[in-house]
Amino acid sequence: MPKFNKALKLSHTVSKILKIFNFEATSFPGKIVQKFYPSFLKECNRYIKHPRFAITGTNGKTTTSGLLSEILRQSGLYIINNKLGANMPNGIVTSISEGLYSKMKDSKLIEANGCVLECDEAYFSVITNKFNFDYLVITNLFRDQLDRYGEMDIARKKIIKGIELNPDMKIILNADDPVLCEISEHFNYNEDKFIYYGITNVEYIDYEKTSKSPSENIYCTKCNERISYNKRYYAQLGDWYCLCGNKRHNLDISANVIVYPDKNVLDINYKGEKYTFKTDLTGLYNAYNALSAISSALAAGINKDNIEKALDNYRPVFGRHQKIKLKGNRDLTIHLIKNPVGASEVLRGLKGLKNSRMVISINDNYADGKDVSWLWDADFEALKDFQNVIYTTGTRSYDAALRLKHAGFNPILLEVGDNTNKVATAIENSIEELNDNENLTILVTYTGLLDINKNMKKLIRKYGED
Ligand SMILES: [Zn+2]
Repeated sequence: MPKFNKALKLSHTVSKILKIFNFEATSFPGKIVQKFYPSFLKECNRYIKHPRFAITGTNGKTTTSGLLSEILRQSGLYIINNKLGANMPNGIVTSISEGLYSKMKDSKLIEANGCVLECDEAYFSVITNKFNFDYLVITNLFRDQLDRYGEMDIARKKIIKGIELNPDMKIILNADDPVLCEISEHFNYNEDKFIYYGITNVEYIDYEKTSKSPSENIYCTKCNERISYNKRYYAQLGDWYCLCGNKRHNLDISANVIVYPDKNVLDINYKGEKYTFKTDLTGLYNAYNALSAISSALAAGINKDNIEKALDNYRPVFGRHQKIKLKGNRDLTIHLIKNPVGASEVLRGLKGLKNSRMVISINDNYADGKDVSWLWDADFEALKDFQNVIYTTGTRSYDAALRLKHAGFNPILLEVGDNTNKVATAIENSIEELNDNENLTILVTYTGLLDINKNMKKLIRKYGED
C-alpha cells in the first residue's frame, strides 16, 4: 500500500480508537498523521481535484462552508469539508484524511472532486504554504475582545501572507466590512483577483430592528479618519465611506435582504441577472453567511437550481442554530457563542423568546479563548425580560450568572451550576424538568459544543422524537 494510503489508514484507526473511549476525534488523528508523514498536506494536492475553497474570517466560517459544500454536493461532486469546525492544521488534516479514507476501496484511493475548508485566520498561511486553493472567501474580521488592540490588524496581515503563498487564488470578499478593505488594497495591482459581495438593503419583518452588537469606530486605511456609513447593518458592516473618497468597493454580487423570524429572503443581482433565494437560517448574520456561500457558488459557475435546492436541503449542524426534535412536541436548539458580535446577533434573535428554558454554558479552555471578558461586551441585556429558567454551567458558570444578573435578568429564575465542564449533563437534567410543549435553548462556547456533540447520539436515543 502506498505511504499516503497508510497515513489515511493510520488517521482512521486513531480516530476509531478515540471514539471507542468517547474522546474527541476532530484534531488528534491529524496530529499523528503529520508527525509520521510531514508531507501529507502537500501530497493532498494530488488527490483533491477542483474547485478548492478556503473560508476564513472571524464569524460565519462553519455555516458558510457547510452551505457551500451542500451546494457543490448538489451539483454531484464529492466534497471534503471540515464540517465540525476544527479549522486549525491538525483539524483540517483530520477532515481531509477521513474524507479521503472513506473513498478508499480495496486500499485504492479514489480522488475527491473538491474541498471546502474553513481555516482559522491565524493558521491560514500554514495551510496555503502546503496546499493550493482556487478561491478564498473572507467573511469579516471582528475583535474577540474589545480591549485587545491590534488583533484585527494581526489577523489581516496573516491572511495577506496566506494569499501571497497561493498567487493564483481568487478572493471572494465581503465588501461591507471596511476592515477587509486593506487586503484588497494590498493586491491592488490585480483587480481581477477580487470578487466583492455585499448587502444593498435590509428589511425586517417581525424581527428586532436594532442591532446591539458592539459597534466600535473603524478608521480609514487611507487617511486615518473615522469611517462613515450610508447604512450600517451591525458591528462595522454596512455601506461605508470616508470623506477622503475611500468607500465600499462596487459590488459584483449584491443582495437585498428581508429578515423574517423563521427565514431570510435574498434578492441577488449578479452580472445583470436577478435571482431570489430563501434560507431557513435566521438572523442577518446568517443572511451574510448565505450570501457568501451563494457568491462563491456563482463565482465558480454553479447553476442557480443547484444553489436553490441546496439552500432548501441544508440543515444547520453543530451548534449553528441546530434544532433537534424531542418527544412531547419539544425542541432543543443549540447556538454557539464565542465573541461579542456573534453572541449579540444570536441574542438579538432570542429577544422576546417564549415557552423555552435556557442553558448557558461558558468554558474558558484554550479553544474557547482563556479570557471571558467578552461576556461583558455581548448584549445579554436582550435576556432581561426572559420569563423562564436560565441554568448556567461550564468552567465559567459563575461569570455567566453574574453577567445575567448585571443585565437585569430576574435572579429568582437563575439556577447557577458548579464551575464544571459538563454541559451535556446540564442539558439532560434540563430536559428532565421540561414540561410538554416547552422548548430548551442552549447557548454554548466551542468546547462545550464538542461535549454536546460527543453525547448527542445518547441524548437523541433517550429524548429524541421517534
Ligand atoms: Zn479616508
